Amino acid sequence: MSSNGREVGLTIDGQSVRVPEGTLVVEAAKALGTHVPVYCYHPKMAPAGLCRICLVEIEKTPKLQIACATRVADGMVVHTASENVAAARRGVLEFLLLNHPLDCPICDKGGECDLQDYAMSYGPGASRYTDPKLHKPKRVDLGPTIVLDEERCILCRRCTRFDDEIAQERNLVVIDRGHRSLIGTRDGSPYASYFSGNTTEICPVGALTSKAYRFRARPWDLAHADSVCTQCSVGCNYRIDSRFGRIMRTYTRENQAIDDGWICDRGRYTFGYLYEPSRLRSPLIRRDGELREAAFDEAVAVAAERLAAAAAGKRVGVIGGGRLSDEEAFALQLFARRALGTNNIDYRAHAQRFASPARFGAKLADLDDASLVLMLGALGPEQAPILDLRIRRAVARGQATLVYVGPYRPELPVLARFFEHPSTAVAGLLDRLLDAVHHGGSESGEPFVDELAQLLADSERIVAIHDGCDPLAARALERLMETLRRYDHQVGILVIGSQGNARGAEAAGCVPNLLPGYAPIADADGMTTAEMLTAAADGKLEALLVVGANPALTFPDGALARAALANVAFLVVSDQLPTETVSHADVVFAAASFAEKRGHVTNLEGRRQAFAQSVEPPVRVLTDAQILSALAAAMNAPDGLIPSEPETLFSKLSVEVDLGRPDIELARPKISDIVEVDFGRPDIELARPKISDIVEVDLGRPDAGGLIVIPIPKLYAGGGAAAFDPGLRPMRPVPFALFHPDDARRLEISVGDRVSLEGRGGAIEVEARIAERAPSGAVLVVANLPEAPVNRLTDQSGLGTATVRKLPPDIVGDAP
Ligand code: SF4
Ligand code: SF4
Repeated sequence: MSSNGREVGLTIDGQSVRVPEGTLVVEAAKALGTHVPVYCYHPKMAPAGLCRICLVEIEKTPKLQIACATRVADGMVVHTASENVAAARRGVLEFLLLNHPLDCPICDKGGECDLQDYAMSYGPGASRYTDPKLHKPKRVDLGPTIVLDEERCILCRRCTRFDDEIAQERNLVVIDRGHRSLIGTRDGSPYASYFSGNTTEICPVGALTSKAYRFRARPWDLAHADSVCTQCSVGCNYRIDSRFGRIMRTYTRENQAIDDGWICDRGRYTFGYLYEPSRLRSPLIRRDGELREAAFDEAVAVAAERLAAAAAGKRVGVIGGGRLSDEEAFALQLFARRALGTNNIDYRAHAQRFASPARFGAKLADLDDASLVLMLGALGPEQAPILDLRIRRAVARGQATLVYVGPYRPELPVLARFFEHPSTAVAGLLDRLLDAVHHGGSESGEPFVDELAQLLADSERIVAIHDGCDPLAARALERLMETLRRYDHQVGILVIGSQGNARGAEAAGCVPNLLPGYAPIADADGMTTAEMLTAAADGKLEALLVVGANPALTFPDGALARAALANVAFLVVSDQLPTETVSHADVVFAAASFAEKRGHVTNLEGRRQAFAQSVEPPVRVLTDAQILSALAAAMNAPDGLIPSEPETLFSKLSVEVDLGRPDIELARPKISDIVEVDFGRPDIELARPKISDIVEVDLGRPDAGGLIVIPIPKLYAGGGAAAFDPGLRPMRPVPFALFHPDDARRLEISVGDRVSLEGRGGAIEVEARIAERAPSGAVLVVANLPEAPVNRLTDQSGLGTATVRKLPPDIVGDAP
């Protein structure tokens, strides 16, 4: 409830406090440090008043009142610890425990359970109830991540309200009534939200248990480390809990400005891969055509010798940085520029061309009071889930309109306006929009340009979000934003990174023509990833160092990437897992994960955050900083060029370049406060590839018999951690292609058919699906799946064409 800036004064347990009008009594008590027990109440959700444990006495009110749903009033006198209140709490607890099993010794929640704690603090000590307890199923498989113990549920409905109010998905519900009430899904389907893990955390008892953590540890056994999720570019804060040096679970660590206290399941559950046998645990050297285990010093010596020789001939390149920490990205560009003497360094191993908006950088929190969110091609739920939660909330509150402009209609849980538009022509659309905004209407004859221009004109606060893949569109967007700003709109831009630390890598100088802090290099001669891969494929590069990147799978021109990795004379790869890129390597370094090192990362809004080390890496696994430091030393680089300690690297980085305010910035600026990006002064025009790299594709007129291929992002796709993590396996998308019904009819394809899509770099086999939201003449294919790499079909534009062949049902096996 809005306070209108007015405050009221009240007394709680004899202490005076002034709080904004409309504050709930439970929150006013919290302001005084007075604890009122709650179960159903959660500060991020509307009061429900279900459990009654928060009963308090309010003078001049005849009955006890629930503190979670009663708002303060001037002069109110509240007692939270009177005998009446204590008696009421004893009654509520006795009632809740009537049928609750006494599972505490084996319950995952034991030790951090509100029912256990309050029963001890406020409970009656013994129950008067002697009849047998009601029994309910104790192992209900609720979905891919959660097991429900129905006996333990106290029906507080935090989980169902989370699914309704926060995730806006409305699938988790209370089924049946009275003592038969159960938690389940509306239609009996598995509870498969991207945010499901949050319900296990907010469940005040041990009813919802996470499959990843179930029966693995007790809370008092756990060591905690404050970390930052790097599975996408949002940078949610979380805590890593470990036991005996092994990660047991991750847990939210609220940072209101970034994650608002939630994390998505991709971030929460991606750690099991660290303990898989497939993880790289030792350096490898190719001998007799096979990658074989080697000592670290030997791998360093071999790699350093070949890299130095290639560097002497100026025939060396470095790809990577977006999966490293800020310190390591800084070290990587130092290694390229100072140890190898080349500007051939590029973090861009994906279709993304840049990760920092040149102007009008917005903050995530700007989405909270945006009146219009303009999504250009990027897909929040699949690429930045917690960012998407903010959009969902803003739309659900009715204050924001979500407009999606792209080549197809994604499935979104909240109301959105769609403007279907070929992805290669967004720049033109934005220019026509600019014209229409400027002249109060357009002569384009496109009704949706006028409609969209009107929406923009009517919106006070506009946040645009894109994926940084189309430099022309990005420039056109900046021009449009500039115009809107001149007409007094507040504007901001967010670019969703292709990798967790894409923006940090860009700011740290992992691009060929910019030094750390976006400082342009005069007469920049460095090659982009595309240019390095072309040179390698043509035999013009002698050595390539790939660090924390898998261009074989992620580079949009897969044919080029595979040719380059196969043809380059010497390939060194540092990674955690045996990716397709690793399979081409001559020397492999086993790299530490984020949980096994410390440092900083920069999220998509340019906020640099520190993360702590949680566990030790396996014995022969080193951090990328340590690997680069050893390589530099073996190449006789100047002493101390690359320190292996993150603290030394950080101070070097901070002295050499001002990457801006370190750590978490809690002040929430208004969009209009942000004039330029918040650190450095990026001149990313120079970092953008040549426009001629962009291949124009006309979605309206596909080749006869062929279809335009549009890769679509999926949260659990990817060739790294997501591919190897057993906990994510149930959520992995199967390789599928979505056809428009007209195309399916023409090609005689039915839902579930196996089809082969054949394109410029080979073929992939996928399952056919059919939906109106696929544009006619195009096919939507899941991106970044090693089982069916769509980049066999696409080129550097990120799009491709394919002919479709229906396979007989009995054909199985890998595509060529
Ligand atoms: S499962 Fe947990 S969060 Fe959901 S209603 Fe039951 S006790 Fe509450
Ligand atoms: S939204 Fe991104 S950063 Fe946040 S928890 Fe999910 S994957 Fe991690």
